Amino acid sequence: MAENMAKPPTSASILVVGGGISGITTALEAAEVGYDIILIEKEPSLGGRVAQLKYYFPKLCPPTCGLEINYRRIKNNKKIKVYTLAEVEKVTGNPGDYEVTIRLNPRYVNENCTCCGECEKASRAEIPNEFNFEMDKTKGAYLPHQMAFPARYVISQQIIGTDDAKRCQDACQYNAIDLTMETKTITIKVGAIVWATGWVPYDATRIDNLGFGRYDNIITNMMMERLAAINGPTQGQIQKPSDGKAPESVAFVQCAGSRDENHLPYCSYICCMASLKQATYIREQLPDAKIYIFYIDLRAPGYKYEKFYAKLKEDKNVFMIKGKVAEVQETDDNRITVIAENAVTGEKIKQTVDMAVLATGMQPQTSLAKLPADLTYSEDGFIINDFEKGGMFAAGCANKPADVITSNQNATGMALKAIQTLVRR
Ligand SMILES: Cc1cc2nc3c(=O)[nH]c(=O)nc-3n(C[C@H](O)[C@H](O)[C@H](O)COP(=O)(O)OP(=O)(O)OC[C@H]3O[C@@H](n4cnc5c(N)ncnc54)[C@H](O)[C@@H]3O)c2cc1C
Ligand code: SF4
Ligand code: SF4
Repeated sequence: MAENMAKPPTSASILVVGGGISGITTALEAAEVGYDIILIEKEPSLGGRVAQLKYYFPKLCPPTCGLEINYRRIKNNKKIKVYTLAEVEKVTGNPGDYEVTIRLNPRYVNENCTCCGECEKASRAEIPNEFNFEMDKTKGAYLPHQMAFPARYVISQQIIGTDDAKRCQDACQYNAIDLTMETKTITIKVGAIVWATGWVPYDATRIDNLGFGRYDNIITNMMMERLAAINGPTQGQIQKPSDGKAPESVAFVQCAGSRDENHLPYCSYICCMASLKQATYIREQLPDAKIYIFYIDLRAPGYKYEKFYAKLKEDKNVFMIKGKVAEVQETDDNRITVIAENAVTGEKIKQTVDMAVLATGMQPQTSLAKLPADLTYSEDGFIINDFEKGGMFAAGCANKPADVITSNQNATGMALKAIQTLVRR
């Protein structure tokens, strides 16, 4: 037992930071065996990145399935207290006995909200919608997304103090908008902390040779998820950003920023499967579209993923090309020419398509800003689990790039580690 574990735990509660699928899983697994959980999420809704996906591989079911079951479990469990718009400011103490200061940012909407939408209709402001990677806009009052949990509107910080905020308040018949709400801090005692702070898409504008941000018809894989999603900016229609027309050909550029010493040196694990899945989105809507997948290695680990890959290969209009993309160019009519070297034949390939999707990888949220706690990080910014020290653990993509199944397994394991911290005497 580590020296700092000598004292018995002073709190039987567990703090889970991050309300994506990993944090939700840790919270539920620990709560359902009787532990008190405080689950905090910095955004106005739980769900994390999974809420942005159209479908999950390998089964291709919408994320609503998994998330809604989990939300029901949370609602039915009095052991879990959820705070959204919440972030940790400070952690002091040792395993079994932490004091944590949490900042609660104002939503300006209270629990009276019925989601009637009148405030949204009244607002005249137009704010880029981050949930949809700014491919559309929200109003100054908005529901974070259709699957939001809690299902409650938010007033954007950007309209506070303006006439627009007043218009929203006047439109609300339920006394749900309170523009005087302020940032608050609370201090809690917990015995263990699980950090499930997840990942962010690698910033594609930094990959200079791949043209994102310069050419309209180059998007990222996460943008493709939102474009194809029925609750996305185009109501699920896959279309070229330049003219809103359906593409007749699409290229996927694998390892966009991953496995590259200048960007993310590691394999992001999920982006091969994500592109294979997105090829099925295109096929579902556009039966004749040609799909080109440029890869260094195609990684489809395990039986189910291998089967998914094998099925897609049967499609005569899907072309898998082993070759790293070196450059992209834009034609005069806004098409995209992808230039790669075929790794099998050595030939230079030039393929012109209507649209290209960059399979950008995962960067840990903690590589952008370290957490206010005594944690150890890998060179790439993932949290390293120090089981000898104990007390604080990283779950899901905060610890490594992972798919949902692996994140869930890992998050369940970290629930157990947190529980072990509390029961040690
Ligand atoms: C294009 C693409 C498609 C994918 N498709 C699939 C698929 O089909 N099937 C599959 O299995 N996997 C898929 N994945 C992978 C999947 O998205 C991840 O496995 C999953 O998001 C991991 O969940 P997580 O909870 O660990 O992280 P996240 O989803 O990132 O959740 C982390 C949460 O923590 C919150 N947070 C961060 N920092 C703080 C903080 N300081 N305080 C409070 N809250 C914080 C965030 O706001 C977020 O809600 C895909 C990934 C990509 C890139
Ligand atoms: S804040 Fe008021 S007006 Fe807006 S959705 Fe909720 S109940 Fe309706
Ligand atoms: S999963 Fe595929 S695309 Fe993603 S980094 Fe690994 S090899 Fe490259």
